[in-house]
Amino acid sequence: MVAGSDEEVTEPPRLDDRRRVGVMGGTFDPIHHGHLVAASEVQAWFDLDEVVFVPTGDPWQKPDRNVSPAEHRYLMTVIATAANPRFRVSRVDIDREGPTYTIDTLRDLRAVTPGAELFFITGADALAEIFTWREPEELFDLARFVGCTRPGYTMDPQTLAAIPADRVTMVEIPALAISSTDCRERHRRGEPVWYLVPDGVVQYIAKHDLYPRPEGSDLRMPPTGGSAPRAPLESTMEGSA
Ligand code: ATP
Ligand code: MG
Repeated sequence: MVAGSDEEVTEPPRLDDRRRVGVMGGTFDPIHHGHLVAASEVQAWFDLDEVVFVPTGDPWQKPDRNVSPAEHRYLMTVIATAANPRFRVSRVDIDREGPTYTIDTLRDLRAVTPGAELFFITGADALAEIFTWREPEELFDLARFVGCTRPGYTMDPQTLAAIPADRVTMVEIPALAISSTDCRERHRRGEPVWYLVPDGVVQYIAKHDLYPRPEGSDLRMPPTGGSAPRAPLESTMEGSA
């Protein structure tokens, strides 16, 4: 079902045999089930041959916080996606010098998947920022954009209207109110992240102590009958907010 429409809309069957490749950019610090469900839904909806997860390099819109080293984020993404034969992980952003811009991601992926039709997958929060990204008009030439619904965010209709209609589709996906920020904060507070992120990712975080508790803090359990306070959602980055 396409978000915002009253009726069921069926994606037209393929008219050509071009390969269809989804591109899911993200900081993935850590990757969580919200990312995986979005990728899986869009893969099925658009009959994509594969979805390429692209962990960012240097996130220029998150200079105010320490992002985990790219190799850790890359490996967590590999662990989370390994079982799905249609998912793979690309190093194009982490191997490129300098800040990550989606335009470079798409150009690099185009070069390695010649002739493929690219579908850039984003949450509604990230898509809402698209006109702040570098070379937005060129982005629409390189890929179709698929905006996934995300609890707590709505896509501003004016921004949506400014994107060429044939280059963007909003898709309603099962709502998962999970964010990497919340996963990091939960871990720092000593709360579980089991079932918010894949099991292997929980174990990887523990093994490398990726989100250590602040010094001197005690293990804090949620109070009985209520939940511990949540950290506010953090500001976003281009293409992977
Ligand atoms: P952070 O809190 O660190 O910003 P995040 O959970 O937003 O992390 P990102 O790596 O920033 O994750 O997001 C990558 C992409 O996945 C973005 O396009 C984002 O909108 C989308 N996304 C993240 N979480 C969800 C979710 N729960 N539902 C739908 N889309 C999501
Ligand atoms: Mg984000």
